[in-house]
Amino acid sequence: MNQIVAEIITIGDEILFGQTLDTNAHWMSGELQKSGLKTGWRTTVGDNDTQITAALSVAESRADVILITGGLGPTKDDLTKETLARYFDSEIEMNQRALAELEDFMLRRGRKLNESTRKQAELPVKSEIVSNFKGTAAGMLFRKDGKVFVAMPGIPHEMKGMMTTTVLPLVKREFQLPVIYHKIVRTAGIGESWLAEKIVDWENSLPDHIRLAYLPTFGDIKMRITAYGNSKNDLQEEVAGYVQRLVPQIREFVYGYDDDSLAEVVGRLLIEKGQKLAIAESCSGGYVSHAITSIPGCSAYFNGSVVAYQNEIKVDVLGIKQETLNEFGAVSEETVSEMANNVRSVLNADMGLATSGIAGPTGGTTDKPVGLIYIACATDENTICKKLQLVQDRYVNIRLTTVAALNLLRRRLIEKD
Ligand code: AMP
Ligand code: MG
Repeated sequence: MNQIVAEIITIGDEILFGQTLDTNAHWMSGELQKSGLKTGWRTTVGDNDTQITAALSVAESRADVILITGGLGPTKDDLTKETLARYFDSEIEMNQRALAELEDFMLRRGRKLNESTRKQAELPVKSEIVSNFKGTAAGMLFRKDGKVFVAMPGIPHEMKGMMTTTVLPLVKREFQLPVIYHKIVRTAGIGESWLAEKIVDWENSLPDHIRLAYLPTFGDIKMRITAYGNSKNDLQEEVAGYVQRLVPQIREFVYGYDDDSLAEVVGRLLIEKGQKLAIAESCSGGYVSHAITSIPGCSAYFNGSVVAYQNEIKVDVLGIKQETLNEFGAVSEETVSEMANNVRSVLNADMGLATSGIAGPTGGTTDKPVGLIYIACATDENTICKKLQLVQDRYVNIRLTTVAALNLLRRRLIEKD
């Protein structure tokens, strides 16, 4: 299949200065991808004639569709139109359609055209106008040797309007684009390289038009399977076959698919098994509870939580035995197990989940270094505790602990009849 490749060129000194985040390129890549168009490159240049010309010439050498944003304003600092006219060896003249649309745009807003706004209707003769229904700067489309160049304003909602109404439909019409289908398999509780090791034969069996990407965030790995072809149904069926062969090899780690989140999956399991949950958090400071309560409808299964940061709270509110704390310390299997078990009765729940550890970056000792964290999950039958040795960064530790705790809860729920 012939892959059509796009290049995005965003223009603006403010992007290079780090003052404006290049959300245009991000959004455009996503939309192109949905339409079956691969973004091969993204380039950012300043409001500078030499830089813009160089970017155009490089893009022309490697891409089929070149999408440009920025630098179309009426003021002197915006140079894109003049540079494009020179690049395509074109005069700039008043475009009557652009002028009519501009007058109409201003009229609807009860505003008059001034000279510099009027100049925005002047376009390179060799370009076709791309209407802007949301602003004053018209877009421009150039064609050269089967390639298409489109210049749009930098203002995000104006660019989005042009992309949706004109540019994407035109590209879909004029180029034969493949269908791109994504399936996501979500895993937790295993590192990327261990995961890859387990499925090496499966991964090697993938044909060229099906690709796998590992996208990790805080102990949670998205395995994105992307397939390219001509029919969505065929791809869906083919990928389903591969997923069916994949999952048994990593079953204990797979918690969901596509947009599932771990907290959502845990919520569904709690409802299914008729279990109420209570949480006792120390080092994670409420983050596990936050994940649980981010899911709409969680009142059906979540009773509440205690953030027991100080030892007194562990003793007074959760009833942790003073001897346990004295003998083993707050960061220990014994304490966190008691927390998980006691919070069940304190908050009248079936299952208890608890965390205690040294989130860092300070507070570690030789025995108990930063990143040492215990998590526990208690049911009416027993309590299971897990020791984690994480990293030096406080925020990362809290996020990793949250995923590990939710995953422990998930595993226990699956085992429950
Ligand atoms: P311009 O079309 O260059 O006059 O850009 C107008 C405004 O759009 C700028 O002041 C930025 O706030 C915004 N803008 C320009 N380029 C981008 C971009 N790549 N991503 C997000 N915003 C942008
Ligand atoms: Mg600009």
